[in-house]
Amino acid sequence: MTSIWSHRPRLLHLGLFIAAFVLSCGFAELLAIVPGTGISIWPASGLFIATLVLTPRQSWPWWVLAGCFSELFSNVLWFHSPLAAAFLIYCGNALEAVIGAWLVNRACSRPVRLESLRDVLAFVLLGAGVAPVASATVGSATLAWFDMQGQSFATAWPLWWIGDATGVLIVAPLALVVLQNWHGKAHLSPARWMEAGVLGLILLGVAILSMSGALPFAYIIMPPLLWAAVRFEFKGAAVALILLALITAVFTIHDTSQFAGNPEALKHNQVMLQLFLAISAFSALIVAAISRQHQLAALTLLQSERSLREHVEALRLSEQRLQQMIDAVPIRLWRATATGESPYFNKRYRDYLRSLLPDFDAIEEPQFGQLMLELMHPEDAPEMAREMRRCFASGATFAMRFRRLQKNGSYRWEEGRAEPLRDHDGKIVQWYGVALDIDDEIRAQEGLRQASDKLARANQAASLAELSASIAHEVNQPLAAIVANSHACQRWLMADPPNIERAQKTVQRVIRDANAAAEVVRRVHALFKQSMDTRVPTAFDSVIAEARDLMAEEAARRGARMDFEVETGLPLVAMDRVQVQQVLINLMRNGMDAMESMTRGRVLRARARRIGEVVQTEISDRGPGIEFPDRIFEPFFTTKESGMGMGLAICRSIVESHGGRLWVEKNEPQGANFIFTLPIEAKTASDGG
Ligand code: ADP
Repeated sequence: MTSIWSHRPRLLHLGLFIAAFVLSCGFAELLAIVPGTGISIWPASGLFIATLVLTPRQSWPWWVLAGCFSELFSNVLWFHSPLAAAFLIYCGNALEAVIGAWLVNRACSRPVRLESLRDVLAFVLLGAGVAPVASATVGSATLAWFDMQGQSFATAWPLWWIGDATGVLIVAPLALVVLQNWHGKAHLSPARWMEAGVLGLILLGVAILSMSGALPFAYIIMPPLLWAAVRFEFKGAAVALILLALITAVFTIHDTSQFAGNPEALKHNQVMLQLFLAISAFSALIVAAISRQHQLAALTLLQSERSLREHVEALRLSEQRLQQMIDAVPIRLWRATATGESPYFNKRYRDYLRSLLPDFDAIEEPQFGQLMLELMHPEDAPEMAREMRRCFASGATFAMRFRRLQKNGSYRWEEGRAEPLRDHDGKIVQWYGVALDIDDEIRAQEGLRQASDKLARANQAASLAELSASIAHEVNQPLAAIVANSHACQRWLMADPPNIERAQKTVQRVIRDANAAAEVVRRVHALFKQSMDTRVPTAFDSVIAEARDLMAEEAARRGARMDFEVETGLPLVAMDRVQVQQVLINLMRNGMDAMESMTRGRVLRARARRIGEVVQTEISDRGPGIEFPDRIFEPFFTTKESGMGMGLAICRSIVESHGGRLWVEKNEPQGANFIFTLPIEAKTASDGG
């Protein structure tokens, strides 16, 4: 109950509804041209259905009540039927409106705007076709039951049905469309206003002429009617139909229309009039719906075209920004296909390539690999070619340092990196890469290294000088005393007679001083020998890996490739880790020194394996080989300008102090092969054996 009260329509709306209902009843009365039938076009049915379609279901009782009041009031004014019959007829009409509104609401898209052909067809079929069955059945039965106006159920039913259907067709869509769309301002151009005016005049003219009988038949109105529907859609169709209905009504009422005529033909004419208006309304509605649908489609197309254009513009802008960023970054960027074709270079890269390859822009189908190798330092080119082949074939990340030609003919160090971009299936789609100029960094590192080398050598020299001075000092004193005492002894023995006693005393002094000198030497030896405690069982492969890591940067800088081969599962070796590393680094550095003058093929090879009870390590190079094999292990022997000649001597003493051996052999096909052995720790060796 409360919900019905809370859904009460505004009184103004109810008042307007009642006024329109009563007016349309009057219009129906005027058009009931067949004397005595009282049945004609019933516009109230259209008004009723449209109102219910547009209002919430909870408010329907109010409209039904208002409709009841309007129809009973109209009955008092015009129809003068018995109250019970009038009420029953109204019940049929209300049933028709409720059924029609319910069906239309279910079948059409909400809100019901009748903008698609499907909606219009559903509306015509359900609202104008099915719903009037209720009112026609109840109304005709009432007429027959009350024996009113001499109508039987069968004669009244079709007239009633067509009358209500026409009313629904003419009024309901107009009410729906007008009520929902009339607020939208019409933006008509002057030309369209002109067209509307001309069309209105033509429509009026044709309607008047055809109704007055000057034109042969009523349906000649169709072209201007459809014109209005096509060009002005529902609003055009609405106005045109109202005009047509009014003109037809006026002429029919005044007995001059084609639908008037002699009394025998009246019934037929009545049906014809109803059909004429129904067909006109139906055609105009369908055409208006088709035109609307076209308009909507065109509008959607226009909108999607506009949004597409906006998207394209946004894309273009973002691409432009990205391009600017790519061109502005201070590194060289490139992109190429999975096989290295059709490369794209950013501006910085293009500028560089253009500066060195004058016909760069004219190269058709450039090949990334070729372009790269053309400008590479001859020493780095083979390695670069090999790496590129490997990465393009396997999809592995590319990373390499190399020297590249500059405009002034010099070479600068660069670091190149590239990664493949893969699709969902892991297939390479593109390669993306960068090239960074690291020349300044490399040179700074080189300077630093040279400085630290110098410092190390100076330190070495200083400590060696210090050490030798102190040894000399320690040994010199007893030696000088030995020499002096030997002379004295000689003099005592050569005296005549020889003074044996004194000579013996001096010889004792000689022995004492010689022992002192030997003690100095022993102390120095002990100093170098270090304690045995620093030797611990160590995994040799980790020591060799460490030495390789320590030398990796130097090897890359000096353009030498390191080739390591370490047997797996090497047994533990008792060693002073730092000293053995010193040996490895010394031998590796000597190998690189030996290959310094070579332009290509700098390969330093290290191999470690177990042979019997020792681990044997070989460090080989492809340099010129050993010139003085008998002397190189002597302390202070060097053929290098800034060499000390202590490296190999120290290496040998370290290896021998570990119980191993160090020697050199000729490397095949060229170069030197330094070999040293280290005994396997006794416990491990016996475990293993
Ligand atoms: P330094 O390296 O300071 O000269 P070393 O004792 O390490 O002292 O080397 C002594 C000499 O042995 C070197 O000057 C060089 O003539 C020679 N030598 C060492 N290693 C090699 C090598 N791999 N190939 C050719 N000669 C070498």
